[in-house]
Amino acid sequence: QKEEWAKLKDEPTATADGEQVELVANIGTPEDITGVLANGGEGVGLYRTEFLYMGKSELPTEEEQYDAYKAVLEQVGDKPVVVRTLDVGGDKELSYLDLPKELNPFLGFRAIRFCLENESVFRTQLRALLRASVHGNLKIMFPMIATLEEFRQAKAVLLDEKENLTGEGVDVSDDIEVGIMVEIPSTAVIAKQFAKEVDFFSIGTNDLIQYTMAADRMNERVSYLYQPYHPAILNLVNNVIEAAHGEDKWVGMCGEMAGDPIAIPILLSLGLDEFSMSATSILPARTQIHKLSKEKLSSYKDKLLSMGTAEEVVEFVREKTE
Ligand code: PEP
Ligand code: MG
Repeated sequence: QKEEWAKLKDEPTATADGEQVELVANIGTPEDITGVLANGGEGVGLYRTEFLYMGKSELPTEEEQYDAYKAVLEQVGDKPVVVRTLDVGGDKELSYLDLPKELNPFLGFRAIRFCLENESVFRTQLRALLRASVHGNLKIMFPMIATLEEFRQAKAVLLDEKENLTGEGVDVSDDIEVGIMVEIPSTAVIAKQFAKEVDFFSIGTNDLIQYTMAADRMNERVSYLYQPYHPAILNLVNNVIEAAHGEDKWVGMCGEMAGDPIAIPILLSLGLDEFSMSATSILPARTQIHKLSKEKLSSYKDKLLSMGTAEEVVEFVREKTE
């Protein structure tokens, strides 16, 4: 099996009938890039920058961040690197910020909510990213976007820092795509409105599933409700993909679901463009995709979306892909 995977390391990712998709990796640190390239990753679909902020006693400086972003971009060359801005809160705590304890941290003051209120922290990160942008193919992504206003505000801060840097004579790339994570149901529902303003979407199913099913992703008592193949999730994913394609924008997925062998045929059927997963899942996923027919899968789309339970979905996919 390993040999079968290895043969595809430098091959593009395409279905048996020649439809190309992109297989990229989720990373947490610049050191992860070695594994991404060794496993045939076509870029980075999610760089979780919070690791720069965790396990320390103070915020990382602009220089520290610049060095990390530059290291990632340089190693990946002209392939895309999607960097997500700081996603603290929820299960990711930063002791030195001294944020008050909350009753429902996953529904609380986290990610973009924190960044928009602590603008100096946000601006430091954006400056580091903008300065690093000349070293590769950078895309910037905002996490936990629930409203259009949040996206507009975050983008305005980004453009303001870009102008500041240019004014200081610093080189900044002119073609940085700016997108959002779709991990809150409100955003998935009005994806059409978002699609007019963002450059891309990346669906964060780890959170999207917990918020849609109202089932804490860390709570084992309710893990039976944490259902990636639930038709509600598939319909939200489909809504995001249709909205994006209607505006000629691309859609990725960076939650665990993107690397799941049961989910992959479903996501191909719905038309997902980019799959971001742990590096070790890339070659197995490419091998699986090479054997699937996009045309055949697409013909199952309406049926999948109209099913009533996750169980029916799984049974159907198993039967059709055997
Ligand atoms: C997600 O929510 O699906 C995601 C990729 O982000 P994280 O797991 O870091 O919350
Ligand atoms: Mg998330």
